[in-house]
Amino acid sequence: MTCSEALSRYFDLDREEEPTGELAAHLRTCSSCAPLVSRMEAAQKAAAVQPSFLQSARFTDLVMARIQSEAGAVPNRETAEEGALLPWIVAGVIILAAIPLSSFSDSLSWLSAIFGTQLDFPLHLVLGLAFTVYALLFIGSHLQGIARLLHLKTSAAPPR
Ligand SMILES: [Zn+2]
Repeated sequence: MTCSEALSRYFDLDREEEPTGELAAHLRTCSSCAPLVSRMEAAQKAAAVQPSFLQSARFTDLVMARIQSEAGAVPNRETAEEGALLPWIVAGVIILAAIPLSSFSDSLSWLSAIFGTQLDFPLHLVLGLAFTVYALLFIGSHLQGIARLLHLKTSAAPPR
């Protein structure tokens, strides 16, 4: 029997099953398998001493208690999200402000010199489009936060 055969058969054994016959002889006498097997058995014994807390109801209680205490930390997450909102709000204000302010821009005056007053409509169309794209991106990337905000608002509203 080769070492790999012996180890493969050893690992195939059931938990309480003892190696027998040729396999037991190899595992006892082989200089490379014997130390490995004795370490495995020591680890199994150590694990058996530990309370098997994965199966205990107490473990479930601990996990649930932990989840509930983590749920108490949600406001911190929300402030973090509000911090992330700031660049978006600034970008939105800049785009919105650009729409009326573009009438006073130097670039517009030389563009108007070339294209005439007909430029106003397409320019506002482009800026309006930019804001629409911005709004879509913003809503798309903050859907959860917006939904929660709306939910908070509706649940905070006084009953009618
Ligand atoms: Zn061996």
